[in-house]
Amino acid sequence: MQHLNHTKNPLVVAGPCSAETETQVMQTAEQLARDGRVNVYRAGLWKPRSEPGCFEGVGKQGLKWLRKVRDELGLAVITEVAREDHVKAALDAGLDWVWIGARSTTNPFTVQEIAEALEGSDIPVMLKNPVSPDSRLWKGAVRRLQNVGIHDITLIHRGFTPFQASPFRNEPLWDIPLKVQSELPDLKIICDPSHIAGRRELVGKISLQAWQLGFDGLMVETHVQPELALSDARQQINPAQLSALLDELEQADAAPLEGLRQEVDQKDQQLLELIAARMNVVRQIGSVKKDMGLDIVQQERWERVLNQRISRGNQLGLSEAFLEKILEAIHSESISQQRKWCS
Ligand code: PEP
Ligand code: MN
Repeated sequence: MQHLNHTKNPLVVAGPCSAETETQVMQTAEQLARDGRVNVYRAGLWKPRSEPGCFEGVGKQGLKWLRKVRDELGLAVITEVAREDHVKAALDAGLDWVWIGARSTTNPFTVQEIAEALEGSDIPVMLKNPVSPDSRLWKGAVRRLQNVGIHDITLIHRGFTPFQASPFRNEPLWDIPLKVQSELPDLKIICDPSHIAGRRELVGKISLQAWQLGFDGLMVETHVQPELALSDARQQINPAQLSALLDELEQADAAPLEGLRQEVDQKDQQLLELIAARMNVVRQIGSVKKDMGLDIVQQERWERVLNQRISRGNQLGLSEAFLEKILEAIHSESISQQRKWCS
């Protein structure tokens, strides 16, 4: 997989999925500001919910809460815009950034409407990927913004709707965002692990992976009381958890080999368990052979197994010499296990 070269310090965007009350917005922001590593405070005011009847955001009244966050705590502030009137309200309120959500990027009419409303302003824009893994649609949205003179654009990778059962709320499909960024090298790209994960336990792991792949930063949904959030309660973390997550990124930078070594340790563990499970089956075969009065070594069967495994191993990029050595070793251990157990 392709890696990007990221900047030294991550661009960190954090804050609740939705602004709910002035108290929730301010308390979350105060705790985040205390960490010192959060650059931009996010909160959705107009919420694009999949189904009607859910909490659809506090709307315009939240703009003054975001201004208060900026004025009192010095954090830059961002919200999602999905229509011309959202853009006008966000620009009038003097927000520092706006972001375009995944559902909006999916629809070129919407992106065009937002772009035209932004024309003439020099506000920086964050642009999420469309919900489907269609990089032309994503790049097309970038061009629509550039065509109206918006040039400070940061991409946000938030995953793609899965079409099969998946551990993720949205599939990361890392190759797609990495390729899009390499085709648009002047743009920064950050990762939204919250919407990829869909559950808070996974947010840290995805963040670390994104950072190690070279993303420039993260947008992480953070709430003072995540379990009580009015939207996306399962995937939000609290400010203390965000601080721990940012510590982990720093540790990964200090010891870039550590994460990879842990992965190798896990793979070796799986390899040994698999070999032990294979020997278990081999011993059962040995006792069946004994009952049937067959020889332990069946040369013809072994040659077929060897050829088939070598050709599969080759397809997986393993060399023939290595495959012969390892398969011979497994075979000879299998025979001695059968002799020992079945004689
Ligand atoms: C959000 O950030 O809260 C949001 C609605 O995200 P997305 O557009 O990625 O679904
Ligand atoms: Mn959300």
